[in-house]
Amino acid sequence: MTPGTLSGRAKPVGRPPMTWWERSYLPAILSGMWITFRHFFRRKVTIRYPEQERPRSPVYRGLHVLKRDEQGAERCTACGLCAVACPAEAITMEAGERQPGDERLYREEKYAVSYDINMLRCIFCGFCEEACPKQAIYLTDRILPAAQKRRDFIWGKDRLLERPDSRIDVDTRHGYAKGDEA
Ligand code: SF4
Ligand code: SF4
Repeated sequence: MTPGTLSGRAKPVGRPPMTWWERSYLPAILSGMWITFRHFFRRKVTIRYPEQERPRSPVYRGLHVLKRDEQGAERCTACGLCAVACPAEAITMEAGERQPGDERLYREEKYAVSYDINMLRCIFCGFCEEACPKQAIYLTDRILPAAQKRRDFIWGKDRLLERPDSRIDVDTRHGYAKGDEA
């Protein structure tokens, strides 16, 4: 058995002395430069993101949106089903009672006072949108922007809720998901 091994199958590898040509390091330098030179003529695998974006699948699951109804009222009733369905436990919310006079803001008597998604936990599986009985949460084809601080990945209602004057289309993606040619 080879000393110092359990199986005895290890083979000692010798280190032959370098020739004067190898000791000049020219072969290694030239070989490295040749590899670099060959890459000048190959198709680039990198792109200039964010100026350029790769084409994405029509059913790509990206950043979420909290939808409003046709009149602009928030659809979410803070029922919590999306949070229960979320395998990453990324969703937290606080429910509140709608006050008289707030009917135009919130669709039903209960609404989400706060609604947060921890995007560092989220795996973009889409279970939350499938669980939602109110068509209130959808994943979109938008890409989660990069950030430097962990707290910037906690997306609250201020960033998730769709603006009444800038609606986000989710029908195209869902048309593809259902097999339509939308
Ligand atoms: S996409 Fe999946 S992981 Fe992300 S919040 Fe929804 S259910 Fe949770
Ligand atoms: S997004 Fe949908 S499932 Fe989640 S709390 Fe709101 S209404 Fe319920």
